[in-house]
Amino acid sequence: MELSVPDGRMFVGGEWVAARGGETIAVLDPATGKVLRHVPRGTAEDVDAAVRAAHEAFPVWRDLGPTRRGELMRAWAAACDAAGAELATTESMEVGRPYKGPSRVGATLTYMAGAADKVLGTTLPTNRTDMLGLTLREPYGVCGCIVPWNTPATLMIGEVAPAIAAGNTVVVKPAEDAPLTCLRLAALAVEAGIPPGVVNVVTGYGPEAGAALPEHPLVRYMAFTGSPETGSAVMRACARNLVPLHLELGGKSPQVVMADADLDRAVPTIVRWLTTNAGQVCFAGTRLLVQRPVRDEVVDRVAEAMRAVRIGPWFENVDMGPLISAKQRERVLGYVAAGLAEGARLVTGGGAPPGAGFFVEPTLFDQVDPGMRIAQEEIFGPVLSAVTFDDAAEALRIANGTRYGLAASVWTANVSTAVRFARGLEAGQVYVNTYGPAGAVGTPFGGYRGSGFGRTGGAETILERTQVKSIVIDGS
Ligand code: NAD
Repeated sequence: MELSVPDGRMFVGGEWVAARGGETIAVLDPATGKVLRHVPRGTAEDVDAAVRAAHEAFPVWRDLGPTRRGELMRAWAAACDAAGAELATTESMEVGRPYKGPSRVGATLTYMAGAADKVLGTTLPTNRTDMLGLTLREPYGVCGCIVPWNTPATLMIGEVAPAIAAGNTVVVKPAEDAPLTCLRLAALAVEAGIPPGVVNVVTGYGPEAGAALPEHPLVRYMAFTGSPETGSAVMRACARNLVPLHLELGGKSPQVVMADADLDRAVPTIVRWLTTNAGQVCFAGTRLLVQRPVRDEVVDRVAEAMRAVRIGPWFENVDMGPLISAKQRERVLGYVAAGLAEGARLVTGGGAPPGAGFFVEPTLFDQVDPGMRIAQEEIFGPVLSAVTFDDAAEALRIANGTRYGLAASVWTANVSTAVRFARGLEAGQVYVNTYGPAGAVGTPFGGYRGSGFGRTGGAETILERTQVKSIVIDGS
């Protein structure tokens, strides 16, 4: 497929522009290491131009009113649906994820378009009959949005859709490894009739282009998705400028398998949510907590299912692609070495197939102590750490015993156990006898504790991208 994103250009104010400094960054196909495209190496100057474009577009977009904004967002959704195969292929090429059918970001845009004209204020009680009190929910203005590389389209639209539905405008900084789908999405917005400047995409490295976004005085709201370390840096910048922040960070999500679980359902799901996107999913279930009586059976069956995972480039009929980069592969292999050094038992995987592409085998460690690094730190690769427990209280303690709180699951046939875990697991998403999003859009998604705060997904998340104004009218 021919990529429709032009070489060396980013999308600002409705136009394809080069970086002011003229430099570019190569975007690679992680399955082959070949260059797909170059994108501008944007700096603070380029971020400034994009924020100014968004600032200029803000009153135009806000004053169109919610009905028209919703219509234009639906047109953008239709354009994304029409380009669904192209968007998904572009994302597969730059992320390395096997192609699984057309992109579904149009569904999120349609959902949020429907919410645009349902942002309601309230009537306030007053003590005088000649006085009226009410609240308005108003947009902030320019929203900055920093996106990682693992699922760029979903993560960009998850932030942009509620922001623009509420009447804000946005500047997106995608990851340097995978910016192409985000650029195409922004161009589709303008092709669909959304005014230039409402959705801008500035490419570049994090410490250059990314860091400039929360520092910009015209940015009034920030959304960051990525690692806790970078999230903390963005939060410090937001604190300096007193800008509200929405943070979507990493995870070390536990999958708890009780002795009464239906293993025929649990095992394939556990392996699927470890190997999807080669484990580069923020809510990947990377800790396997198994009750002692079924531990050997679960470990054996999970290992067998992992060995059956077909690995290869995105365009072949495979289950799992490569990691995003050589650097990420080094990081994952470093954790494999750490697991061995700490005394965990390597059951399967642990190697990197030779040849081009940044592949790592699905890897299972058993006899993992909950305090080991491979049980505490986010690896962001297909590495599963199995920990054994005796009872539900111990399982809950281990499950909640990391800095993170993004997702968690429990597999059990007992409804009392299910309820106990549903309440007791400290995570933004809890799954019972399943794993992963429900499939339809509209489920709030976000973290507890070190996994962040704020939500994307549900219709109410649009309210987070508004500020409340109280109005008192003296009619005497
Ligand atoms: P990262 O933090 O390295 O980079 C994320 C983005 O931040 C990139 O666009 C990068 O260029 C930018 N960035 C880097 N340094 C910056 C700085 N100093 N200032 C501003 N921006 C900067 O993360 P990553 O390695 O690209 O992504 C993986 C991480 O993202 C994992 O921790 C994963 O769990 C997390 N993630 C979370 C969610 C979620 O919804 N909770 C979703 C996907 C990924």
